[in-house]
Amino acid sequence: MFLAFLLSLALEEPKTAQIDVRYENLSAEAQADFENAVAVWERCLVSDAPIKIVASSIKRGPTGFANHNSVRNKRYLPKRGVWYPTALASALRGRRVTEQDDMNVFLKEAGDGDNWHFSQDDPISEGKVDFINVAMHEIAHGLGVSSVIFVPWEGEPIASIGRPDEFVDFFEWSFPFREQDGTPEVYDTFLKLADGRRITKDFPEPSLELTYAVANPTIHFDGKHAVAANGGYPVGVTPLNVSHIPAFPRRATPIMLADSGQGESIRHPDKILLGMLRDLGWTITDACFERGA
Ligand SMILES: [Zn+2]
Repeated sequence: MFLAFLLSLALEEPKTAQIDVRYENLSAEAQADFENAVAVWERCLVSDAPIKIVASSIKRGPTGFANHNSVRNKRYLPKRGVWYPTALASALRGRRVTEQDDMNVFLKEAGDGDNWHFSQDDPISEGKVDFINVAMHEIAHGLGVSSVIFVPWEGEPIASIGRPDEFVDFFEWSFPFREQDGTPEVYDTFLKLADGRRITKDFPEPSLELTYAVANPTIHFDGKHAVAANGGYPVGVTPLNVSHIPAFPRRATPIMLADSGQGESIRHPDKILLGMLRDLGWTITDACFERGA
């Protein structure tokens, strides 16, 4: 009840962005909770350009997965030689940069044997995975908390900037999934090691050195808003899984944990995640930021 109250309180704030979702095979309760996640983001992000999401259920694969459409080297983008998610590029430009969808979100099918927790059954019990939390997490990947550094799990562990076709082809995308051809995502340009080396600048690509760099325990996201939100401390990312944020001692559970939503209902983005989005180029409302844990 208390969580539902907090959610309803947040929803009294005005919408500052519009997110349109097309659903494919999501159950009614899954759709309702995806809308709850969307409603939170619509009151955090500031954009004049509507964001287009396709949310689909999958029978196999991970609990949740998302990827986004990208553009690079346009006048309205602050950095050259990096991919920007189209949702962010559109926000920066002030109108949509593509007629295609901005992101695809895949969520494990709800039904017998699933361990989803939906908000109508609050509070959550142990062993359940909170659907709203996972939906917010996957949308955050689609907004740009997403690295294109790839380390193969079979064969030689040579890391590259860009994902191979066999990985991309596992899912069906509603937009052309681009070859990254060695171009990093804007997110990747913030990744550094403690000795100051930048992941996108100071390592050969593809290479084993790059694998060791992304496996290094000091790998962190060096954006001023994220660091400020973390009390001035470096914001570690999960080694080898660098689009995710590990839990920090004495800090709120991050939305971007690699296994988010386990036994815990978090219904608002944390300040570190919101700081990261600001570093990437998003405008985030102050009300949303202040509400963040
Ligand atoms: Zn994730």
